[in-house]
Formats: sequence, C-alpha cells, structure tokens
Amino acid sequence: QREQLLSIAELPAVTKDGVSLTLAANISSLKELEAALSNGAQGVGLFRTEFLYMDRNQFPSEQEQFEVYRAVVEKIKGETLIIRTLDIGGDKQLDYYELPEEENPFLGFRAIRFSLDRKDLFKTQLRAILRASHFGDVQIMYPLIASVDEVREANTVLAEAERELTEEGIPHQANIKVGIMIEVPAAVAIADMLAEEVSFFSIGTNDLIQFTLAVDRMNEQISHLYEPYHPAILRMLRTVANAAHKNGIPVNICGEIAGDVNALPIWLGLGIEELSLSAQAILPVKESMLRTKASESRQLLEEMFRCKTAAEVRALASQFHMEAA
Ligand code: PEP
Ligand code: MG
Repeated sequence: QREQLLSIAELPAVTKDGVSLTLAANISSLKELEAALSNGAQGVGLFRTEFLYMDRNQFPSEQEQFEVYRAVVEKIKGETLIIRTLDIGGDKQLDYYELPEEENPFLGFRAIRFSLDRKDLFKTQLRAILRASHFGDVQIMYPLIASVDEVREANTVLAEAERELTEEGIPHQANIKVGIMIEVPAAVAIADMLAEEVSFFSIGTNDLIQFTLAVDRMNEQISHLYEPYHPAILRMLRTVANAAHKNGIPVNICGEIAGDVNALPIWLGLGIEELSLSAQAILPVKESMLRTKASESRQLLEEMFRCKTAAEVRALASQFHMEAA
C-alpha cells in the first residue's frame, strides 16, 4: 500500500472537480525535509526553528542559522519556505537559558513574547532569515500572535534588520512576506483586523484547540476533551477563513488535524489554500483529495455547521470519507 501511495507523490493535489490545495510540509530539521520531499511535499509551510536552538549549549549564531535556512530553501527548488520565528517556552525549554518557572507555561513567557522581550536574539534570527531569502522564496511567520500591536512591534524589528543588511551591503529579498500563526482565540476574534496587517494566516490548531476549549494539550487525564471537531472550533475556523478571504490573503492549516483525512472536507469547504503536514500525512491526504469533490465538501460543511455536538460532526466526516473511498 505504501508503494501505491508513493506512486501519487508526483501528482498534483487536485480534487475530482479541479480544486487544488497546496500540500506543504511541517519540518524541524533538514532530515525531516528529506522525508517530506520524498513524500511529494510542495514546499515547507512550517519550519519549527526552535529545534535549532535546542540540544546545544548556546544560542545559534546568525551565520549558523543562515546556513540551515539557506540549505532548506535551496533543497525545495523554487517552492515556498515559511520560517516560523522562535517558539520557545511552553513545552520547549533551553538547557543554556533560564526561563522563568511558571504556573502555566503555555500561557506564559513564550514564542513572540520571548522574541519581543529579547529583541537582540529576535533580530539575529530575522537577519539570518532575510539573508536566506536571497536564495529562494522565503516567508516569515510569527507564532502566538494575540494583538495587532505585537505584529507591528515585530515588524519594526524586521525593518531594522533589513535596514542593517542594506547598509552592510548584504543581499536579501526586499519586502519579504510576513504572516502570523492564528492560535490564540483573541486572534480569531480580531482576524479581520490582523488580516489587514499581514500577507497570510496559518492556523495552529494544536494551540487553538487547547486555548479555545481550555484543555491542556499535554494533560492525558483530559485528553478526551481535546476535540478538534467541536462546533466551537469549526466556527473559529470559519471566522478566520472569512476574514482572510475578504482581505484577499490565503490561509494555511499547520496543526496536526490537517493530517486527518476525515477533516479534508472542512478545508475544501472553507476554501483553505494550503495544508502543512508531517511527512507521513502528505500522501494519505493527497490520495483522499484525488477522490473528493470540493462542491460536495462545501455541502457537507453546511451540514456540519448545523451539528450541535462533536460526535455528530465526526460521524458526518467519517461517513463522507468512507463514501468517497
Ligand atoms: C500549533 O499550535 O498548531 C502549531 C502548529 O504549532 P506547535 O505545535 O509547534 O505549537
Ligand atoms: Mg503552536
């Protein structure tokens, strides 16, 4: 069966009725990139850079980061590489840097909050990303955005990094595209405002589900409450997609749920532009796409929006998937 799947690795990801969806990869290392490419990934939708900062004894230099980013973008040959700026904190710690002990680390000093506090480190990373952008289509993504101010403050640091590089005569792409992760409920509520500030959204469902349902994604005792098919989640996805599309910007889905083949009609129904998947999820999702109709997905999604329970939504999703098989 694996061989059967590999035979579609080179095929475009298009539905039966001709709607295409970019199937990009989530990676955290060059090794993961290899696996993604052999599964037919169309670029990288989420490069989790925190792994460059972990398992070592000091922050990586600009040059070290630049070399990794450049190697990735050169390997994907003309496809897009979305680099997420450091998302440290929460469940990810650094051996060489004392992060504060926190009661609620997922709600704490992490991601863009850390970067805006340590602008020196943030600028180093942005310079490395900008330098890599000279070698391919590189885009920047900020994690855990909860306000317009954070986007603007981050962009100020980016503008500074760019000005420095220009003054130093170091080549880089001008007007690099900047997007944000939508993974905090506040960002959903102001998605229309955020859409005016950025070039794309990428919905981080892992965190968005955790925060929307108030269910710690690491706590096994309540893992049955961690429910991607909760009607509240569907409504949030719709809010984000509508806000983005009204402003003419695309939406990616980069949380784990993007790899669930049963969820595919949700993305097709909402008109999502890109899924970013772990390597092993790419071909199963593509295989489903090839035998699914976007028009039928839209109808199914209408029905899903009338469901009051996650169980009903789930049942519709799995029935649809089986019927398409
Ligand atoms: C997410 O929150 O959905 C996401 C993709 O980011 P991470 O899992 O790295 O928090
Ligand atoms: Mg996240």
